[in-house]
Amino acid sequence: KELVFSGVQPTGNLHLGNYLGAIVNFVKLQDTHNCIYCVVDLHAITVWQDPAELTRTIREVTAAFIASGIDPKKHIVFNQSQVSEHAELAWVFNCVARLGWLNRMTQFKEKAGKDRENASVGLYAYPNLMAADILVYRATHVPVGEDQKQHLELARDIAQKFNNDFSDSIRAHNFGEKFFPMPEPLITGPATRVMSLRDGTKKMSKSDPSDYSRINLTDDADSIAQKVRKAKTDPEPLPSEEEGLKNRPEADNLVGIYAALSGQPRPDVLREFGGGQFSGFKSTLVDLAVSKLGPIGAEMKKLTQDTAYVDAVLADGADRARVIAAETMNAVKDIVGLIRKK
Ligand code: ATP
Ligand code: MG
Repeated sequence: KELVFSGVQPTGNLHLGNYLGAIVNFVKLQDTHNCIYCVVDLHAITVWQDPAELTRTIREVTAAFIASGIDPKKHIVFNQSQVSEHAELAWVFNCVARLGWLNRMTQFKEKAGKDRENASVGLYAYPNLMAADILVYRATHVPVGEDQKQHLELARDIAQKFNNDFSDSIRAHNFGEKFFPMPEPLITGPATRVMSLRDGTKKMSKSDPSDYSRINLTDDADSIAQKVRKAKTDPEPLPSEEEGLKNRPEADNLVGIYAALSGQPRPDVLREFGGGQFSGFKSTLVDLAVSKLGPIGAEMKKLTQDTAYVDAVLADGADRARVIAAETMNAVKDIVGLIRKK
């Protein structure tokens, strides 16, 4: 079976974008792949996190995985910082990746904002750690939303440069021609890019300061209703064809969300609601969102109360992940020429 790796940051409220762009796929891939799903807490601390809140959110993301249908017994669920090989391999990759490559990363530019001199070094090196997360398991398939495409390409560049730079040593140690595989993004969720409810040109994000910009997995029916009702739209009625959504990012986004949640193709949604006002469409969307997310949110709440259970899941997953990661890291040390205890 092919190996899948993906991660979600414990940086705040998990939202509909995370769910439709990532977690729904995580669940599906369990049938066909061996899967490793990681709460990437070392990525979270590239920007300031309140310590107690970070602890709480690590458990919350774990609960979201389980509540959405990820089976931590059949697959591996853990938090990144418990497997130190991630950070170790990331350092080697810091020495493989080039400054010029990282300078092109748009997420850094967006997250660092105007005050770039004041951004953490970790935020800059973030894609190298992400490459290590994937390659420390030599995973080949990475289900992510569209926003992570560029980082995945960087991970491939790093894998390739490592394979090239150390090709003689890789052969000498009998690892064949290539040590790291080229990880492939799986950008195939029901909605690979869910946009903010306040601004159809910005992606829905955990770190958006406005809670009205996103639907959280833990939102109750009232908040979902309020957020959808207040979601930005335009004065035109809904079109009945895709053409009519051009230059209407907010309308486009709501139609996409509806299609993804209902499992209907977009043309069907447009045929059903085209010509109607947003108010009617929005109230159907509220019912749909509440029926899909309500049970997950309720289960998450139950699970987060049982911290002993969640922590045990993470510890068990970390133990199993470490076995694979340590094997890769040992090989990397041999390939690079570092002495280790044998
Ligand atoms: P942050 O703002 O802290 O970066 P985030 O909302 O981007 O948080 P991440 O933990 O960085 O969430 O990403 C987790 C997964 O969710 C990734 O696979 C990412 O591609 C996906 N994802 C994030 N936002 C969206 C979105 N708006 N639409 C679709 N997928 C998304
Ligand atoms: Mg993100």
